[in-house]
Amino acid sequence: MNKNREQSLNRHELLKQSLRQNPPDPNRIFDLFLNKSELEINLENVITVLRDSYDKNQYFEKRSQLLVKFLDKALRILSTTEQWLDEIDRLINEYEKSSINLPASLYYAKFRCLATLSVSDAKAESFIEKAIDLEINIYNQLDYQLELAMYYENTSQYRKMKKIIDQCEILCRQYSNLDQQLARTLLYLGHYYFYTFQLDKAANYMNQAQNILETIYQEERDQEEKEILKLLSTCLHYLGRVYFAQYNFVRASRFYIKAQQVLEKARTKYTLSNDLGATAFYHLRLGQVLEASKLIESADYHYDKSQKEFEKCGNLSGKMQVSLARANLIGSQVDDCMVNKKSIWKKQVLQLRDAAQDAQDIGYDRGYLEALLRRFLLDIKYAQIGDLIKVSFAIVTASEFYKFIFSNPSLLISKLQLAIGLYGMGPYHMIRLNQKQKRQPHFILKACPCRYPECRKRINTLI
Ligand SMILES: [Zn+2]
Repeated sequence: MNKNREQSLNRHELLKQSLRQNPPDPNRIFDLFLNKSELEINLENVITVLRDSYDKNQYFEKRSQLLVKFLDKALRILSTTEQWLDEIDRLINEYEKSSINLPASLYYAKFRCLATLSVSDAKAESFIEKAIDLEINIYNQLDYQLELAMYYENTSQYRKMKKIIDQCEILCRQYSNLDQQLARTLLYLGHYYFYTFQLDKAANYMNQAQNILETIYQEERDQEEKEILKLLSTCLHYLGRVYFAQYNFVRASRFYIKAQQVLEKARTKYTLSNDLGATAFYHLRLGQVLEASKLIESADYHYDKSQKEFEKCGNLSGKMQVSLARANLIGSQVDDCMVNKKSIWKKQVLQLRDAAQDAQDIGYDRGYLEALLRRFLLDIKYAQIGDLIKVSFAIVTASEFYKFIFSNPSLLISKLQLAIGLYGMGPYHMIRLNQKQKRQPHFILKACPCRYPECRKRINTLI
């Protein structure tokens, strides 16, 4: 054994002995952790410290602070989200047994974990409502209300979503120092109009949000900058979705790329851990524009990247969307030979069936309807009449279908396709694409604008 290694082992042994004799003050360890950045912290170590302080009232507050501070990081990986939820539940129980008042942020953290583990969960909704009732700080209360609006968006409860956002807007305009919350409110108002197909209104609200966020960013308010950049990235991402829906694919892809650049800037500047979910969504949306522009090879490249990122993190609805998109791409590059066609159709049906089942299991109604409609278009393409009748029946009895029909009776099938993310598919898309190619060819992508050389090397076939 060399001398240096021997010395280091001795030092290590001495340190262990001294720790055994004088265990460090838990308060000091808590403070040490609370001062660390997201990137520096190891969540396993946090959990160990939390466990060491079970059933000790004096550490309730610090435990709660730690669970809230690193919540975002814990939500990025599914297995950590589950561990985090266990710790939160344990602390809520201990609070309830004692006579100490529970902080609203703990209910909020519980809501975020539950909403991450399942798209639709009545229990999650009740916890965020508790947090809103308990919270006295106006900033936090607005944040919680906007989180609830997001929950309604994900579960397609658009009327409830709009009601909350309207309340938030009134509150934000009453006070002068709530411009970050106002920007977020306007952004979500844009989401609402996007999902109810009023695209010009959606773009208008999102542009307003973007302007506010850019102004705050230029003023360099340090404590808010991280949040501002994240919101700005979401704003650009959604503007991309609006342009996409308007068939301006070139502009859409530019906005997606810009959104991802802002996200990366936030990550390097504020030493944040990698937001796998947001990056996965970037690849998914870029893939959709490419697929719609018939750049199949590049679309496949980005769907593949998206799927890999989603597998690392725990975004259930995203994972489902990419698996549905890939089902559609199966066999896109294959010739018209009948033997091939039959086996491809079988593969596609299987993948769509699995995705529909998964969507039902996690309560993701929009994904379930998307799977059914993709199956419907597939059965038309392959003239599978028997299956077509079965699938049609499943579609008209799906709860999500009714939500769309009743919320918007003048709904066209093309809008329904758009609303549930069915891009680059079906006869309606082909007609619009041909029109655009003739009248506004500069709207259609000729090649993928990303920075990945492996993607650029791919030869894209126009089919
Ligand atoms: Zn690319």
